[in-house]
Amino acid sequence: MILNADDPLVAQYQRLTGFPAVFYGLAARARLEGDCTQAREGKFCPFCGAPLVFDYCHFSQPGQYHCPGCDFNRPGLLVEALEPEAGEGRVRCRLVFNGQEAELILQVQGLYNLYNAVAAFSAGFHLGLDVPGMLESLGRYRPITGRMEKFNYQGKPVYLNLVKNPVGFNESLAALCAGEGSKDVFVAINDNDADGRDISWLWDVDFEMLGRDHRPYNCFICSGLRGEEMAVRLKYAGVPIKKLIVEPDVTRAIKRTLTGGSGSAYLFSTYTALWTAQRIIKTLASEGVAAR
Ligand SMILES: [Zn+2]
Repeated sequence: MILNADDPLVAQYQRLTGFPAVFYGLAARARLEGDCTQAREGKFCPFCGAPLVFDYCHFSQPGQYHCPGCDFNRPGLLVEALEPEAGEGRVRCRLVFNGQEAELILQVQGLYNLYNAVAAFSAGFHLGLDVPGMLESLGRYRPITGRMEKFNYQGKPVYLNLVKNPVGFNESLAALCAGEGSKDVFVAINDNDADGRDISWLWDVDFEMLGRDHRPYNCFICSGLRGEEMAVRLKYAGVPIKKLIVEPDVTRAIKRTLTGGSGSAYLFSTYTALWTAQRIIKTLASEGVAAR
């Protein structure tokens, strides 16, 4: 088994199953946003029930932890990402494996994508694949629809990301906060069957990080079938009402986001609004190029 050492819910499987396992993980970041106060699923030791002690968290549960009640703790690593950094449109780290070291740079947004890449690398390394080849392939990877997919509208970077649960949304917000300059933000929340009918999970997302420092954000345009509830959630998170816009029409809402005058635009969408959003952005982006 190739397991994420930073996630106690995953790391426990070695002991639970007795199967051989190797572990990967991310070391602490120099600049830790987000403390360990976000919604966390792995708060308690899976073996003795004691609250786990976290030295740091990257987002939600993963991080360095140990149990004060028994000997369960973050296992030793086969592959470790040192100095992990998430910037605008890319993530990087110093990868250490078996006494060797290499730089890993990914053209994707969001620290969680570094976890995905390190997991893939660990599996390949364990199987004896060619290391330079793996690093090159990972560096060439471009995200698929809605995974911080990058577009260009009249020279402005535009990011589209699927949101469907608090952990993923929190990490998307971390990527939003890490982006430089002023930003326009679009959020489309639908509650069709494929999205999940219950939207109460929005209250478990740490939107408060936007309310604490809302200066980089020009406005938040809330759309989709439940756009009004989204705006209410942001209001309670401390975002000033004058920065909140409810525009149920997705096309008009996206147009407004892209032409908002900020240096970049971030669009977050639940599943059933994602393809519509992608089509509209692509159309507007190509019109924008034609108009130049
Ligand atoms: Zn324990």
